[in-house]
Amino acid sequence: MYDAVIIGAGITGTMLAKDLSRYQLKVALLDKENDIANGATMANSAIVHTGYDPEDGTLKAKLNVAGCRLYEQLCKDLGCMYQTVGAWIAAVGDEEEAKLDILADRAERRGIPYEWLSGEEARQQEPNLNEQVSKVLSFPTTAIIYPWEVAIACAETAVKNGVELYLNSEVTKIDETETGYTVHTPDREFETKTVIDAAGIGADQIAHMVMKDPGFEIKPRKGEYYVLDHDAKFVNHIIFPVPSDKGKGVLAVPTVHGNTLLGPNSDYVQGTVDTGSTVQGLDYVRANITKTMKNVPFYRTIRTFAGLRPSSSSSDFIIEEALGHPGFILAASIESPGLASAPAVSLYIIDLLKKTLTFTEDPDAVMTRKAPVVLKELSAEKRNELIRQNPKYGRIVCRCEQVSEGEIIDCLQGPCGARSIKGVKKRVRPGMGRCQGGFCEPLVLEILARELHKDPQEIVLDGLRSNILEEENR
Ligand SMILES: Cc1cc2nc3c(=O)[nH]c(=O)nc-3n(C[C@H](O)[C@H](O)[C@H](O)COP(=O)(O)OP(=O)(O)OC[C@H]3O[C@@H](n4cnc5c(N)ncnc54)[C@H](O)[C@@H]3O)c2cc1C
Repeated sequence: MYDAVIIGAGITGTMLAKDLSRYQLKVALLDKENDIANGATMANSAIVHTGYDPEDGTLKAKLNVAGCRLYEQLCKDLGCMYQTVGAWIAAVGDEEEAKLDILADRAERRGIPYEWLSGEEARQQEPNLNEQVSKVLSFPTTAIIYPWEVAIACAETAVKNGVELYLNSEVTKIDETETGYTVHTPDREFETKTVIDAAGIGADQIAHMVMKDPGFEIKPRKGEYYVLDHDAKFVNHIIFPVPSDKGKGVLAVPTVHGNTLLGPNSDYVQGTVDTGSTVQGLDYVRANITKTMKNVPFYRTIRTFAGLRPSSSSSDFIIEEALGHPGFILAASIESPGLASAPAVSLYIIDLLKKTLTFTEDPDAVMTRKAPVVLKELSAEKRNELIRQNPKYGRIVCRCEQVSEGEIIDCLQGPCGARSIKGVKKRVRPGMGRCQGGFCEPLVLEILARELHKDPQEIVLDGLRSNILEEENR
């Protein structure tokens, strides 16, 4: 009998799995995908918002403010990237400037550091800021992360502490029993005292398996982006327009690896699998980024992508025990700032679970993780030493991102190791650069086949049936 079954291995589910692994509990983490963090956690702006944006009195406001304050230490503990770059809200004209006062007032009351800059002062630091920008509200403690790195690190920590991870395990049915719940997947059944529905855009479908009327409906909202090459170096800070009814608007965001993201738009879509970029969406980004920015180097675009926000009929996070279903916890409608709030969301869920479970610390739990080797960040001396020990670190497979064979082999290790081309790309970045895998993908495929003892034709791009090679032709 499990104490908890977590459905969904995005940032919400993996963070919770990590935190539960501190205790003497039997926990399973399930995801329908072939890798951790393949949902909203994989396609977002990667910003650890400080919490000035959500409306007063919401769970979003409470958990965003609390969650972001835990992130820096969390990233240190888990060996993940965390860069404080600061966020600017750029106002154009008197009407927008007045809206900045509302955000500053919220920040003041929530203890969030902020500063004011005139348009001129701001342009001295950000030469690509549009001339129309008349005033800037700056949140200097805003940070950026590598979102799926954090989710993978959380899952790894959880699994090392005994949490069982089941990928390719779509939950299809849940029965309520005398002692809790039976969670059904095509291959297994899990008897459990509690269930946590952290299924992102699938959260309403999971809720319907237990509740007659969950009282909410997921309405996925697409956000599309341009990714600019490293050396485009377009912005130093995250630049937001003044938020509107449609959300936070189209931003320019530096990434932890030196790229720039431009986006997103915000359009409701039908279905839960529509993650393709669209001409309309990207045109919207192009048109709207010019509100705050000039000289936008779209010609330096190396990729476009889209993510689906797990928005719902509620404007707030829905994190509660389902009425009449003890031990069935909803973690639904986790749209932005779900990433920034995740550490606090997890602790909030643990408080809800205390009604059903007893929490005794496991003295053997290890809540830290050693960061993997990133060759290009090492000094020449350390690199040489490593290459002497293992010559595979001396063979560069991805020229754009300077990723070695040794790093690729490292990322395949363990139960949370990569099992697909995309899994390798998410962990150590071959294919993330200018050529988008044109040169390195066949080499990564070869390494995967060799190290996983598989036939090259069995190697998949991402999901179980996304094989790349169809047949041997010579
Ligand atoms: C365009 C965009 C920009 C954003 N920008 C930011 C930002 O800058 N900062 C921020 O704080 N937040 C941001 N967010 C929000 C943030 O990305 C999400 O709040 C967060 O990633 C949600 O994580 P999650 O784990 O709840 O959901 P997900 O990451 O979607 O994970 C849910 C998981 O459940 C699995 N699942 C679904 N159904 C089933 C099933 N039946 N059985 C088994 N598994 C199932 C899915 O495969 C998925 O892996 C943004 C989101 C988007 C889309």
